[in-house]
Amino acid sequence: MYFPDISPYSYLKGASEPGTLNVGWLHPEHPFPTGSPSEQTLVKILVLCRYCVNQTRGTHHCYFCTDHPRVVQVQSDQGIICLGSAEIRVMSRAGKVYAAPTLIYHYMKNHNYRPPNEFLEALDEMDLQKLERFE
Ligand SMILES: [Zn+2]
Repeated sequence: MYFPDISPYSYLKGASEPGTLNVGWLHPEHPFPTGSPSEQTLVKILVLCRYCVNQTRGTHHCYFCTDHPRVVQVQSDQGIICLGSAEIRVMSRAGKVYAAPTLIYHYMKNHNYRPPNEFLEALDEMDLQKLERFE
């Protein structure tokens, strides 16, 4: 499942606001920008993975991991989170919406994927404490 960053989201039509943009739909055939994510960025992504959307029954594997179990699991404060079967949404203050697979956490942490600046800025702007209060 590959989509270029900042292309219009079209994967699960009807399940998203019009104007939603893709981020982090990587594939080995397409090189991606790299960088080291901050710990704070990763924590935020992981929180969003707990509030994921578009859960599907199948699980996408990481195409970049070849030598260990390919279903990606992450230990969080709230228990084990299985990545690869749902999406997260990041909303900017200006009203832009970004759709990323939950695997983006793993891509950033383990494969140094660097999402576009506008996505990182929108993530910075999000107040996740507000999100946690809904629990
Ligand atoms: Zn991987």
